[in-house]
Amino acid sequence: MSKNRDTAGSLSDSAVLPYRKLPLTSFNDFGLAEPILRALVEENYVTPTPIQAQTVPIVLTGRDVIGIAQTGTGKTAAFALPILNHLYTKRMRPERKSCRVLVLSPTRELSGQIADSFRAYGRHMKPLAIELAIGGVPINRQIRGLAHGVEVLVATPGRLLDLVHQRAITLNQVEILVLDEADRMLDMGFINDIRKVVAMLRKERQTLFFSATMPGEITKLADSMLTNPERVAVTPQASTVDRIAQRVILTEKSAKNDLLVETLKTETTDRVLVFTRTKHCADKVVRHLQKSGFGAEAIHGNKSQNQRERVLADFRNGKLRILVATDIAARGIDVDGVSHVVNYDLPNIPESYVHRIGRTARAGADGIAISFCDHEEAAFLRDIQRMIRITIPSIDKRTGLRPAQRPADHHQASNRPNRGRFGGNGGGGNGNGQNHGGGNRNGGGGNRNGGNQGRPSRGSQGNNPAIPRAEASPGEPNSIGTVSFLQRGGNRTPR
Ligand code: AMP
Repeated sequence: MSKNRDTAGSLSDSAVLPYRKLPLTSFNDFGLAEPILRALVEENYVTPTPIQAQTVPIVLTGRDVIGIAQTGTGKTAAFALPILNHLYTKRMRPERKSCRVLVLSPTRELSGQIADSFRAYGRHMKPLAIELAIGGVPINRQIRGLAHGVEVLVATPGRLLDLVHQRAITLNQVEILVLDEADRMLDMGFINDIRKVVAMLRKERQTLFFSATMPGEITKLADSMLTNPERVAVTPQASTVDRIAQRVILTEKSAKNDLLVETLKTETTDRVLVFTRTKHCADKVVRHLQKSGFGAEAIHGNKSQNQRERVLADFRNGKLRILVATDIAARGIDVDGVSHVVNYDLPNIPESYVHRIGRTARAGADGIAISFCDHEEAAFLRDIQRMIRITIPSIDKRTGLRPAQRPADHHQASNRPNRGRFGGNGGGGNGNGQNHGGGNRNGGGGNRNGGNQGRPSRGSQGNNPAIPRAEASPGEPNSIGTVSFLQRGGNRTPR
């Protein structure tokens, strides 16, 4: 570990720079307290990431913040560092059964990682009590942990409300509230719980609100929670992480298992995260991979906390190469070195796609995201492409009958070329796993914004954003094979 005492050394206690004065290139510029800077040196953090450079100075002034940032951008430190600074400079004993800072996060894993980050950055601050309140583990230890009051409580909403109902904690002393991954909270149905929690807090508080995307419902929630917030964003709304090479493989549902095995054999992978829509499917995929000779494990809501932690630890330390997960279980997994994300199923919520593929390309690395898309998922693909404003390069590996050829569809199909739900060129599947050389399957060519707002038209041959294009956009390599396909320019997050 390289020690960089220079950056930690000279410190003027209250020198908070005006936050407009960007870019801040050193953690020293923030005027953070010495014990925090010392911990950062030990963590080997030299340069603030963009979300940190923007957020830390604002939080230090006491203002509310809406931060639009994905995981992997360094957003945990963006809120944890100024919060620790606040606790250091305004020391007071927390009251019994209370907390001074409350961090709400959607999953156990993410909550654990946030608490670990607070512990790491605050390791030289004594006393500093940090408690974790998550489900899946006995509540009694958490009740005992809160008895004398804590500086920081990191909690999932459900367990927090249980603790409140058991009178293990009151929330009226909270000085700073952090809501992390707000859009995921919405997906997971936590919005009502969050509103209940917020109603228990005092009005004079600072609120920091983070979300990877800002759908309407989340904007409404933010409006109801924040006072005159400053908005910071490190990626444009709903943009995909630009370092990730994305591709889609059109396939039949029944061929997905074999396609996965083939993909794992042909790709040069390091750590692979495979997403399925259901727990049941995750288990099935694991069984198939194990039968095919791959070491794979699943994490999902039916697994105990111990199992999840063991599997995650194996994945982190490299013992396990393939992790199969559902969206919820994978939320907040902070593992560097995930080379591939495979969407075995496409998510029906476009934001989930962004979250999923954001698991790769962390810590400055490039990553590859491969999505299997069967005909029932064509509409999901359309929605994803519309949101990320990219037509993802595709390869067609369908071999069987198109939906339009099925008996139920036959009468409709009889008067028109065979296209199926993917629409297309009427040329039928090529069945050989190769790209359609030069074949423009949507006939629209280079439509990056998606012109058709409706469902994929089964009869039209037109410009249908649901239809994955076989050819690449200008500037993209045109072949779909082994390497990366899409290198979008834009703001990378330096590490
Ligand atoms: P997060 O987006 O908060 O989940 O952070 C992603 C990863 O980046 C974590 O492993 C952090 O430890 C790491 N990290 C955060 N900030 C920095 C920084 N300024 N320099 C180096 N690594 C960082």
